[in-house]
Amino acid sequence: MPPRGADGPARICGRLAPSPTGYAHLGNAWAFLLAWLVVRARKGVLIMRMEDIDPQRSRPEFAAALLEDLRWLGLDWDQGPDVGGPLGPYEQSRRGAAYAETLTRLDAAGLIYPCFCTRKELRLLAAAPHVDDAGAPYPGTCRELSAAQCEGLFRSGRRAAVRLRCPSEPIEFEDALLGPQSFRLDECGGDFALRRSDGVVAYQLAVAVDDALMGVTLVVRGRDILPSTPRQIALLRMLDHAVPTYAHIPLLLDCEGQRLAKRHRSLALRSLRERGVTPQRIVGLLSRLAGLNPHGVPVSPAELLPDFALERLPGTDRRVTDQDLRQLAP
Ligand code: GLU
Repeated sequence: MPPRGADGPARICGRLAPSPTGYAHLGNAWAFLLAWLVVRARKGVLIMRMEDIDPQRSRPEFAAALLEDLRWLGLDWDQGPDVGGPLGPYEQSRRGAAYAETLTRLDAAGLIYPCFCTRKELRLLAAAPHVDDAGAPYPGTCRELSAAQCEGLFRSGRRAAVRLRCPSEPIEFEDALLGPQSFRLDECGGDFALRRSDGVVAYQLAVAVDDALMGVTLVVRGRDILPSTPRQIALLRMLDHAVPTYAHIPLLLDCEGQRLAKRHRSLALRSLRERGVTPQRIVGLLSRLAGLNPHGVPVSPAELLPDFALERLPGTDRRVTDQDLRQLAP
């Protein structure tokens, strides 16, 4: 059940959903600070969810470091791996039963099918201009395989991914920052995978299921994830779950216009901390770039709350310059 306020109406529920594939960097700090502000400014509940679904890329030491670094920055959350709560577990690696149950439901409704294509086959078949999460467009090769054909392939030892039969009508939604959105899934990526052939649950399934089961009503995340949103909405609708409101925020770019990523090692929060940079200076810089703090005075996230409004966020991506970074150090 979604968390409820003391006086009855449901409180907004947001989440911070880091993937523990590296140390938190300035770009993560930007995204999580803005998500935190949007939810806290509306007196919402915040859930920390560790998106460690991919065993090859996630590491427990990064998960622990992420929690520590985001707290050091001045962010907090009401439920999460380190504080517990009624909706746990809060690590996706421990939520396999919920994902399996959802796949069983979708299967019973005839909404998923096994896909035996190898990555190589998918690459050879690639013709569409858009790509799915695995980096290859899916042309629907296995969509109409009969039960007998599937059976035969399984018996011959082939392993299968699981794909969702996507609706052909457009998925429309109103983004709280970007306005009306419309996507046709059959034109961008096609039937996407819910489980890889090695058994690992796909990000789209894990996120949709978790947002639903955790009662998330407001998803604030980077614009780079916008193409995933219609997929998650399609899934939520098929499962009769409520669809949250989405706000896709601008990205923080480096001076060359590239998205800040975990490979920008010097911009890891812990590297900055080791160099004597305070969290208030980091929040001062980020809030200046977000148009919330004209002179970039050092502040804590909580100090930004009284004047914060989602509508004040910039409409376009921001760049952090070398000069900005030099000014961070004391
Ligand atoms: N775990 C994802 C990431 O770190 C975010 C997913 C989401 O917010 O839906 O990029």
